[in-house]
Amino acid sequence: MIKFVDLEAQYSSIKNDIDNAIGKVLESTNFILGENVREFENEFASFCNEKYSVGVNSGTSALHLALLAKGVGKGDEVVTTANTFIATCEAISYAGAISRLIDIEPDTYNMDPKKLEKAVTARTKAIIPVHLYGQPANIKEIMEIAKKHNIAVIEDACQAHGAEHHGKKVPVSGIGCFSFYPGKNLGAYGEGGMIVSNDREFDEKLRAYRDHGQTKKNVHKYIGYNYRLEEVQAAILRVKLRHLAKWTDMRRKNALLYNEMLEGCDIATPVEKKYNKHVYHLYVVRAKNRQRLAEHLSSREIQTGVHYPTPIHLQEAYSHLGYKKGGFPVAEQYADEILSLPMFPELTEEQISHVSKSIRDFLK
Ligand SMILES: *Cc1c(COP(=O)(O)O)cnc(C)c1O
Repeated sequence: MIKFVDLEAQYSSIKNDIDNAIGKVLESTNFILGENVREFENEFASFCNEKYSVGVNSGTSALHLALLAKGVGKGDEVVTTANTFIATCEAISYAGAISRLIDIEPDTYNMDPKKLEKAVTARTKAIIPVHLYGQPANIKEIMEIAKKHNIAVIEDACQAHGAEHHGKKVPVSGIGCFSFYPGKNLGAYGEGGMIVSNDREFDEKLRAYRDHGQTKKNVHKYIGYNYRLEEVQAAILRVKLRHLAKWTDMRRKNALLYNEMLEGCDIATPVEKKYNKHVYHLYVVRAKNRQRLAEHLSSREIQTGVHYPTPIHLQEAYSHLGYKKGGFPVAEQYADEILSLPMFPELTEEQISHVSKSIRDFLK
């Protein structure tokens, strides 16, 4: 059986360090906003080559608070793409704002900057480009448009820890939101998230928002939230962060092997832009008979996934936005064709070869 994501292989490789780190937190009985959260924030900010970083309880909370701290509220509009995980739009909804969706670029599956300007209105307060599957969106071009219209950019980097755009690690624009959901490239053993920025005032607001609006003990400047990252998760993430660069290299090596072994097949493999470093949270191909291919692979004990089978505008939860089928042709066509192959650092060359050979057999 080849799993889609194998978290066991990773745990067994770092078991002693993880168990020790958890044990120390239990012994300290300091579970909330202690040394591990503080140190992990510093370490993750340095990893991103940024100044500030605030730990929260999920990637969704990170996006929600980043929007609030940028002043996004009721009746404002936020532009994002039709091809993302629903949490991007949920965060916009939590802030009281409206999602304005645009279509994706055919080669990267990310926000198409050419479609961006037309979606900007007088009410647009922010743009959330999503670095989907681990490849940065075209932030350089998106920033030019954002600057011209004086709109905030908040990068949804929940799938892109350590990805690079024109030689700079994400976030490129100054604000990025990360998720530490267990299956993400840097995953907790529970929930977690982070907002990384280069803006001190913004960072201070976020610190208050995540902890009941407190600026000092018992001084509540805002109506905030209980969105705190837990010490146990931060202690685990500190251990795992030390391995992240190596795990990213392993993912990239696996992607290269897939590319080589699938070359010449009648399926589309990922395109990595020259100016990007893709971190392959997911290895997504496109095939005409996606469903049958997935069933064929399943019959050979190979797990696959689809990210995501329904674009946001065709989900019932977002039907009120008023978009119709046919509104975002690239995202809609791709939703029927995309298939995510097994991808995790510990995947072996033998396993990749078995998956690739099974795909070739199907296409014959
Ligand atoms: C995982 C993810 C989120 C949400 O993160 P959680 O930690 O699960 O709340 C948001 N956006 C994208 C693109 C994601 O992949």
